[in-house]
Amino acid sequence: MQPFVHETHGARVVFGGGARQFLPRELEQLGMHRVLVLTTPEQVELGQQIAGILEERCVGVYAKAVMHVPADVARSAIDTARTLGADGCVAAGGGSTIGLAKAIALESDLPIIALPTTYAGSEMTPLYGITDAGLKKAGRDWRVMPRGVIYDPELTLTLPVALSMTSGMNAIAHAAEALYARDGNPIYSLMAEEGIRALAGALPRLRRASADIDARSDALYGAWLCGTVLGNVQMGVHHKLCHTLGGSFNLPHAEVHTVILPYALAYNADAAPQAMVRIAKALGRESGPAGLRELGESLAAPRSLREIGMPADGLDRAADLVVETPYPNPRRIERGPILELLQRAYEGAELA
Ligand code: NAD
Repeated sequence: MQPFVHETHGARVVFGGGARQFLPRELEQLGMHRVLVLTTPEQVELGQQIAGILEERCVGVYAKAVMHVPADVARSAIDTARTLGADGCVAAGGGSTIGLAKAIALESDLPIIALPTTYAGSEMTPLYGITDAGLKKAGRDWRVMPRGVIYDPELTLTLPVALSMTSGMNAIAHAAEALYARDGNPIYSLMAEEGIRALAGALPRLRRASADIDARSDALYGAWLCGTVLGNVQMGVHHKLCHTLGGSFNLPHAEVHTVILPYALAYNADAAPQAMVRIAKALGRESGPAGLRELGESLAAPRSLREIGMPADGLDRAADLVVETPYPNPRRIERGPILELLQRAYEGAELA
């Protein structure tokens, strides 16, 4: 075994159906008495439900979170938290809502309790992003990591089936790249493999019956593990491609991960054979890249960049951006093969 370093940054995690009822207790543990509840406009009812559980500990519901945390939304949320005298935030939603809470924490140090409602995993990471004038400024700071996370699978029952599938694939992508990360270690690899196994088992069940609470629990458990590895090891070419396509071409986050993942893994297959074996094993299939492609197809998830809105004339620019500032990756990042990967993904062609 290679020598390694394993460092832990803990959030307190409460997991279980109906666990949102423990919010007042969790707030107490963290010494939070006046919290601002954050969510999206689409999830305003959830925000109100959470405010109801919190009673007088809630100073307001700010339901304006949107994808990629626009700087003006972050500014207005920070001002609202300040004006209301909030001493913390409760983020009830997916990566966009938790991202807004992180933007507030970055400026004001207000602690966060997250109630994730998707499988994106932001609640387990110190990663943040704020978008200003079309540019997403991303960073890493443990101050923005939620101090408490309540995983209540009941909150995911309303996640539309199509988004459940792609969000689950988004989570699997974190774990797949963790298995070949240069700074990975045996502990995070265990979590990654188990996260893939849990999600690959749960997603087909959710596709058949989206209200299957056991499948929802398994998926959320997998998402927790995948989010943990995302927060602790460096991601590679897959995440670089997705951040570029999402940030510069405004493609939907979970869908772009779903389309790119089999192609990115095929790109790395020869350079990271051990990781591919572990991914295949966790999927219960013969090959990692092809297995993910098959899983995506069985879930009726999108398979081409074209169908999720990528302009054909943007592929060259995307390849340039990926090559200019690559993430660490087991195979060298070269423009020709990256452009070919993007072209295949654009068409939804066979894996190389
Ligand atoms: P999202 O939070 O943008 O949610 C997508 C849509 O689904 C929204 O309209 C939301 O209101 C709705 N929704 C979410 N959960 C729902 C539920 N249970 N029921 C009904 N509707 C629901 O989607 P996401 O994929 O979770 O997050 C994407 C964003 O998060 C991107 O900006 C991405 O960059 C960021 N992200 C950040 C990290 C990190 O570590 N910082 C990790 C993953 C994703």
